[in-house]
Amino acid sequence: MAIATVNPATGATEREFEPHSGEEVERRIARAQDAFKALKDTTFAERAQWLRRAAEILEGEVDETARMLVVEMGKPIGQAEAEVRKSAKGLRFYADHAESFLADEPLDDPAAVGASRAWTRYEPLGVVLAVMPWNFPVWQALRFAAPALAAGNTGLLKHASNVPQTALYLDGLFERAGFPPGAFQALLIGSREVKAVIEDARVKAVTLTGSEPAGSSVAATAGAAIKKSVLELGGSDPFIVLPSADLDAAVETAVRARTINNGQSCIAGKRFIVHTDVYDEFSRRFTEATAALVVGDPLDPKTEVGPLATEAGRDELAELVDDAVAKGARVLTGGGALDRPGWFYAPTVLADLSDDAAIVQEETFGPVAALYRAEDAADAARIANQTRFGLSSAVWTNDADEQEWFIRNLDAGAVFVNGMTVSFPELPFGGVKASGYGRELAAAGIREFTNLKTVWKG
Ligand code: NAP
Repeated sequence: MAIATVNPATGATEREFEPHSGEEVERRIARAQDAFKALKDTTFAERAQWLRRAAEILEGEVDETARMLVVEMGKPIGQAEAEVRKSAKGLRFYADHAESFLADEPLDDPAAVGASRAWTRYEPLGVVLAVMPWNFPVWQALRFAAPALAAGNTGLLKHASNVPQTALYLDGLFERAGFPPGAFQALLIGSREVKAVIEDARVKAVTLTGSEPAGSSVAATAGAAIKKSVLELGGSDPFIVLPSADLDAAVETAVRARTINNGQSCIAGKRFIVHTDVYDEFSRRFTEATAALVVGDPLDPKTEVGPLATEAGRDELAELVDDAVAKGARVLTGGGALDRPGWFYAPTVLADLSDDAAIVQEETFGPVAALYRAEDAADAARIANQTRFGLSSAVWTNDADEQEWFIRNLDAGAVFVNGMTVSFPELPFGGVKASGYGRELAAAGIREFTNLKTVWKG
């Protein structure tokens, strides 16, 4: 895949970039290693100060940065601005909390292990490679970078090939904020060059956010080299609605959950599983609200749904819908690409899916919702758990016993009760099953790329 900015709203190639040569990659890894030697002797307070400065820079440049995101991957401008602001919040979160998350933990009873004192200490690992996707190109990269740098690691970012301008912007951000040169750098390389970077002895660990094939390839390389990996992969999250739910709020939130970021979010509600008693009502109102969404130029503040990020992504989505329809699904609204330049796809609702439709198992990365009718709570959980994914989930019910039952019975990295899944710096984020392993954000996220060193003193 060429490293280029192709505007999804027009299909026009705006800028192409020469990939980094082997020598340039080598130079960047060497700089990252040198920066680690410098960074590991800095204090939490110094790193926190630089993270806060990076947050200020981001906020000061929100307008230009948001426009760049829109031109590179097509999200509506208001959502691009919100992404940049949220990223600044993530930087400040780790500036405020890294030291307490990584504080030494003494053993209460050292005599039990024959010691005068014993404790654990978190130490940085070194250079960490981050392979990142285009869908939240600033937030995804910074939710890796903030804890990694706060812990004293250095980062190499292999960003998705369609967001090179964002990659280069982030490449400069941390040095501008005061971090040692080389603490965070972008590698403009294709996915084929990733293996050699993981295998490089100076690179200690890798994190990937993206698709299953990419995740399994990166994890295989890391496994062969015995290096730590974290995988944040796809999702096909259930959004379950039961009779006691506030239906107004559920419908309104369901539409937002499915179409935020033009439907290209790993934690989007993708499968809407509705109890039969409220199915018809939910289906009617959800379809009406989906059909009323404003689709258009993502730079226009009135636009609610813009184009898909790539032509290939739009074609894959169209294939899943066409396959479902060929196997008997009903299209309640939408159902096809829009006849205009760029990679637009109409917000779509499908019902009556047959079990052999690929969409039942696959992730839909675009504004396509699948409706399922459930006979009861147990049937809803069965449908929710029937895919190989297990990223997050949402359940709408005002019955306390039912809430507790779903919290226990949904196979997912998170359960949101009467809300939609959102990532917060304060909460751990990650999946089970084919959605990956390891956690980002919160205390769990910063500890992933550390050496938990045990210290015993006689
Ligand atoms: P993708 O093709 O897997 O790309 C993601 C990143 O991996 C890009 O930088 C890509 O580089 C690289 N890559 C692709 N194949 C690779 C390989 N074999 N070895 C090494 N690197 C490789 O993913 P996408 O389709 O663009 O992104 C959407 C996917 O990401 C969805 O499945 C979505 O659910 C998932 N996602 C998950 C989370 C989460 O937190 N769980 C968050 C956001 C997105 P190139 O661009 O150069 O190919």
